[in-house]
Amino acid sequence: MSAKLIDGKALAARIREGVAARAAVLREKRRPPKLACLLIGDDAASISYAGSQQKHAEGVGIDYELRLLPGDCDMQAALGAVDALNADAGVSGIIIQMPVPKGLDGFALQQRIAAAKDVEGVGAANLGLLAMGRDALAPCTAAAAFACCQATGVEIKGKEAVVVGRSVIVGKPLAMLLLGAHATVTQCHTRTRDLVAHTRRAELLFVAAGVPQLIGREHVSEGAIVIDVGTHRVDAGDGKKKTVGDVRFDEVAGVASQITPVPGGVGPVTVAMLLENTVAAAERG
Ligand code: NAP
Repeated sequence: MSAKLIDGKALAARIREGVAARAAVLREKRRPPKLACLLIGDDAASISYAGSQQKHAEGVGIDYELRLLPGDCDMQAALGAVDALNADAGVSGIIIQMPVPKGLDGFALQQRIAAAKDVEGVGAANLGLLAMGRDALAPCTAAAAFACCQATGVEIKGKEAVVVGRSVIVGKPLAMLLLGAHATVTQCHTRTRDLVAHTRRAELLFVAAGVPQLIGREHVSEGAIVIDVGTHRVDAGDGKKKTVGDVRFDEVAGVASQITPVPGGVGPVTVAMLLENTVAAAERG
């Protein structure tokens, strides 16, 4: 391996430190930041994820509140719960735990979150502001991938950036962040002809395809910076599981100049970005 590792855990720790300092200032002013999570139903993974969110939030001085609704509630009750959080002056940021139970419209629920409290950046207003180059609460994973690139210290301005993936929550907002930093951006997707031809032009390569180990040595030019957003649990071959990304790390680390590992790259920074968005929302509120 010749590439330098982009240490997501260390970057996340630096971001959390900054968030904790800003949260302390707000607490002194008697305006404690608070993250509220609406969890509908009793999905075990969602409950466990909310527990981890709570630990991370409280660890930096952000209050956390879990609001529970029964899994058989109707859309009107769910929208009412979002409206109540929107109207609660003590709540700085709102998350709706996805997926919501069948019969509820998760998209409509997320769009109901007030733009100023949309700390996951999932609403049309924040995405629109981001597209306009205005101050916005950017989607956390896109912001995390961008922050990993910034952490290399390499100037983004003027670079050839290629983003593999165009999802609303990762690929598109990431392209907008890169455009805002004056990169020349190419966005690839499943209908892209000759993916390799595009990715090989990348000086900054971002992979958010959701396909385990899609990107190999052949896709990457010597010296590129590679940010792997993917995260997958796959068989390790010995009856155990391991976590891998969208990039074949061992191959690509031999040719890239800097690369994020999986795990320990974009993932921890994503959590830190949620905390940063929450404290930013509280400062504005
Ligand atoms: P997604 O909604 O499934 O979108 C995947 C995108 O990749 C789509 O735009 C798709 O193109 C494109 N794509 C799929 N296969 C491709 C291929 N063979 N060649 C070129 N493009 C291809 O996924 P997502 O929500 O953006 O997430 C992407 C990855 O990030 C997943 O692995 C997910 O687990 C991971 N993730 C990580 C974090 C974190 O904190 N680290 C957070 C969220 C997500 P089309 O539009 O044409 O279908």
